[in-house]
Amino acid sequence: MKIVIVGGVAGGASAAARIRRLDEQAEIVMFEKGEHTSFSNCSLPYYLGGDVTDSRSLIMMTPASFRKRFNIDVRTGSEVIRILRDEKCVLIKNLATGEKYRENYDKLVLATGAEPVRPADIAGVNNPNVFTVRNVTDTVRLKAYADLPDVNSFAVYGAGFIGLEIAENLVKAGKKVSLFVHSGQVMSTFDEDMAQILHKEAIDHGISLYLNTVLTEIGGGFVRAARKDGKVLSAEAQAVVLAVGMTPDSVLAKDAGLPLGDSGAVRVNYNYQTGDPDIYAVGSAAETYNRLLARPGKPALAGPAQRQARAAADHICGQYHMNTGSIGSSCLQFFTQNAACTGLNEKAARAAGIPYDAAYVLPPDKVSIMPGSNYMAFKLLFEKPTGRILGAQAIGKGDVTKRIDVIAAMITMNATLENLKELELCYSPVFGTAKDIVNMAALTGLNLLHDRIRQVRVSDVRSLVESGAYIIDVREENEFAKGHIKGAHNIPLSQFRERMDEVPKGVPVYLHCRTSQRSYYAICELIGNGYRNAYNISGSFLGLCLYEYFTDETTGREPIVTAYNFN
Ligand code: FAD
Repeated sequence: MKIVIVGGVAGGASAAARIRRLDEQAEIVMFEKGEHTSFSNCSLPYYLGGDVTDSRSLIMMTPASFRKRFNIDVRTGSEVIRILRDEKCVLIKNLATGEKYRENYDKLVLATGAEPVRPADIAGVNNPNVFTVRNVTDTVRLKAYADLPDVNSFAVYGAGFIGLEIAENLVKAGKKVSLFVHSGQVMSTFDEDMAQILHKEAIDHGISLYLNTVLTEIGGGFVRAARKDGKVLSAEAQAVVLAVGMTPDSVLAKDAGLPLGDSGAVRVNYNYQTGDPDIYAVGSAAETYNRLLARPGKPALAGPAQRQARAAADHICGQYHMNTGSIGSSCLQFFTQNAACTGLNEKAARAAGIPYDAAYVLPPDKVSIMPGSNYMAFKLLFEKPTGRILGAQAIGKGDVTKRIDVIAAMITMNATLENLKELELCYSPVFGTAKDIVNMAALTGLNLLHDRIRQVRVSDVRSLVESGAYIIDVREENEFAKGHIKGAHNIPLSQFRERMDEVPKGVPVYLHCRTSQRSYYAICELIGNGYRNAYNISGSFLGLCLYEYFTDETTGREPIVTAYNFN
């Protein structure tokens, strides 16, 4: 059997190596149009910031090592320009010589990935100082430019994980960075309340962050942008990095008449076969099945690409595999914050019409007297009324991936809040708390699901303050003195039983503390004493400060707290 693979990085290289492990006799030819195969795309931004010092270390396997270790024929600088399905062959262009030739196949695997978007309506978008980061060659070119003695300022357009990682690494390299984002938040995989923590992190590290802004012009040393409110902005930028998304590289498939999905990625079946059973598509070029939304999706992530490649290879070689679809788990380090998410966020659940609620907790990530203990913002989405877990987001200085990986496993097993509540996880004060953050989120979620407690979100607090709502802060007096919601009444939890009479009956009251735990206890006391109209402010004072800080700082808006306190 002869297998031809187009694309030699995450999906292509994984498929090639797996096929060889299953079939020693197969003839495997892999074409890559770029200079390198099998490199770590995900590590590229770290070459800019200096964590990766030698660009050669980004490359895991070369054509020579593929030949030696796996007996795979790898041809770089070789672009597959057409698929001739009737003849079961592909047409290749040698990019160095211009020579064109054919290669026949029994099975063809398309692992062509995705192209960075280059918006044509930006004046100057093709200037030599405009970069994208997809492969080692791009990144080396960008770093060489950044290393020029007079190049000090950059604009980054787009704030998904690639945009943020590039912005951070340029700051680490000593550059002044302006970050332009067309929507109202960075990292669209997170909800707005969580993304505020990353906004704060950006401005705390000197990044000029412009939200709701579209880049319109790239000049020599400056960029211009239009904000949604009509204001025109300009910023100093000697170079621009575009990170405004990726388009599936499906042109070969399209030209060959293979069906594409709505996303533009190649439509595939359970076995990753395209409209032609002898042609497979995997990775960012292929559409995947989102098991939570029960419809096609396209998570452009390395893990799913490798899983799909292995599954396609298994099918080619007659092995059984399971296609469980994808849920979209990803993570990011952004300066001192780690961020991870899995499954659906609120926007996705709402758009899909799934009834849901969200538990938002802010506990310490290890016992608080231990060195290095920090709060972690953790949000858990669940379906109502089943309690099925839909997604989670975590941001903090500690190990967010451990928590999100637990939730990813639970989602994959169709678990509910009850399952998560009962989940027995390892514990030592050095690593976590006896009741882990994920268990705590499940408990809070169950309280909401059973209507034992009612909540409002930090995003609702401003309108509560403006409407003169009765807000009770149950932190101790010394905490209150360091900063509180304007107009809030301070009834510390330690005095709450004696002073409960001060709480008005017949009007809604909104309680908070630092993280919502003490206010939860106070609400239980109130409910037990006949008060029915008490709401917990989820996220509490800490969450509110994280939520409000960025907008107040950047717009000069009147804060609704007397002082911010992030401790
Ligand atoms: P790719 O790995 O992009 O490989 C496709 C290859 O096909 C390309 O090298 C291309 O040159 C080649 N090709 C295309 N057309 C042809 C043709 N006609 N002929 C020959 N060759 C062709 N994912 C994560 O999960 N975590 C991360 O932290 C993360 N960080 C990232 C950081 C950056 C800067 C980038 C760019 C991506 C990152 N990703 C991350 C995404 C991840 O790398 C991709 O999802 C994954 O590589 C997709 O694999 P793929 O095989 O589909 O495509």
